[in-house]
Amino acid sequence: MLTGFKNEPLTDFSNPQNVAAFQKALEIVKENYLGQTHPLVIGGEEIYTEKTFTTVNPARPDEVLGTFSDATAEHADMAIEAADKAFASWKHTSPEERARYLLLAAAEMRRRKHEFNAIMVLEIGKNWVEADADTAESIDFLEYYAREIVRIADSSDKLFESPLDEQLDYQYIPLGVGAVIPPWNFANAILAGMTSATIVSGNTAVLKPAEQSPLIGWHVAKLFFDNNLPAGVLNFLTGEDGAVAGARMVEHPKTRFVAFTGSRQVGVGIYEKAAKVQPNQKWLKRMILEMGGKDAVLVDETADLDSAADGIVASAFGFQGQKCSAGSRAIIVDSVYDTVVEKVIERAKKITIGATDESNEIYLGPVVDPEAYEKVQDYIKIGADEAELALGGKVVETDGNGYFIEPTIFINVPEDARIATEEIFGPVLAMLRADNFDEAIRIANDTDYGLTGAVYSKIRERLEQARREFHVGNLYLNRKCTGALVGVHPFGGFNMSGTDSKAGGPEYLYLFTQGKIITEKL
Ligand code: NAD
Repeated sequence: MLTGFKNEPLTDFSNPQNVAAFQKALEIVKENYLGQTHPLVIGGEEIYTEKTFTTVNPARPDEVLGTFSDATAEHADMAIEAADKAFASWKHTSPEERARYLLLAAAEMRRRKHEFNAIMVLEIGKNWVEADADTAESIDFLEYYAREIVRIADSSDKLFESPLDEQLDYQYIPLGVGAVIPPWNFANAILAGMTSATIVSGNTAVLKPAEQSPLIGWHVAKLFFDNNLPAGVLNFLTGEDGAVAGARMVEHPKTRFVAFTGSRQVGVGIYEKAAKVQPNQKWLKRMILEMGGKDAVLVDETADLDSAADGIVASAFGFQGQKCSAGSRAIIVDSVYDTVVEKVIERAKKITIGATDESNEIYLGPVVDPEAYEKVQDYIKIGADEAELALGGKVVETDGNGYFIEPTIFINVPEDARIATEEIFGPVLAMLRADNFDEAIRIANDTDYGLTGAVYSKIRERLEQARREFHVGNLYLNRKCTGALVGVHPFGGFNMSGTDSKAGGPEYLYLFTQGKIITEKL
């Protein structure tokens, strides 16, 4: 049995050697990884389509990083068929054999860690620390799920459990073909996590990375292709419009389950579409849908206000606020509201903005694409009508015409304001005033979502109250609400944040399997 899971250490960028290694990796990626045309991979065959699309650097949108094949619905059909064919033999491979592919992928990703980081710096504007955490999480998923499937498959402890004269065998068998549809924001970790969970459980996958981040998706998939994963076990589709091949993957009668992470709007649409039983479909599709958040950081009058302000700023502006776990609401008890606002603004003013490939010192990169750029600006306009703009609110003009938006803070935000209730997915923080701690909890829970939350307080009874009443999947006390660790903080939320799966936790792989109990009379 595989044991000894340990989280991948994060890189210490105060060490100049690590900075140099990262710069070198950026050069390697710019020289060797960019400017290529990438195929679809269906049943082990590379397919280059006539129609293509490009992936660009959001800090300098004229900079094309790669060209990708544009999958049609027919390609999705072909990929599902190829995955279905491969399932016939892949489902009988041992969990140990399947786990080995994950461990090989993890080892290679670890060897080229900074190259994977550099791709994300260029393709989605992550800063170095955020990119490094994304790749570390990706390696963690590979290592963790490799161990998990071996643990789950070991049913030896069930062998003698029947009170009757019989022998038992409780197996977790795979489901079938999975449509794997990740977002761009944890472009490495979520994609690798959902894909590896699918195949290590004995299923086959059709993976379609988000249209904003196909390059990192390609390099993750390649780790499996280069290690000779049997043809058809992992199929790779890219498309300019995620809805084309993606929708067909969801709809196809041979799709057995969907592993999706993304927006509420798309997730709900997928849920509805997958519920319709198609002609010749033999099952009800299983849905693993992880969606958005409107996460809150609560601060009471006893809290360490400096630490709370640090937590609010990190939660709101880390990766430009483009995390499902982003603390986009700060709910502060009235008596310390003004002080916390002041401390948060003071810290947010120090945030450095720019193209993240230029330096390790840059904290805030661009938002991911023109749609996000427009959407965030629209919300800033809405916020200006609903509340008081206390910081930022403007775009930052750069030579490369990048999609940069200042860290933006609205204060005295009414609890029913759109900027306090809707997911913006950008560097916009709504600061709300609560009369007291009970009110703060009530406001925090008054949302359709329920993903992460944080509470800063020194009063034991309030922390206990938050444990009982703050309805989120990942609750953090006296620390920021982002930064879940695989195997430590199983991650996933309630209500419109998703279908209650917990990625990186001990129950996750059960979602990718079904139980079969075999009883033999002795
Ligand atoms: P998105 O919903 O726009 O896209 C997600 C994926 O769905 C992409 O691969 C996209 O191509 C695909 N897609 C789009 N339309 C489709 C359709 N009709 N059928 C099938 N697939 C389709 O989300 P995004 O912008 O990539 O990601 C940001 C969102 O993801 C945010 O809402 C964020 O909160 C959420 N998210 C949630 C978690 C979590 O664990 N709960 C983690 C990360 C991100």
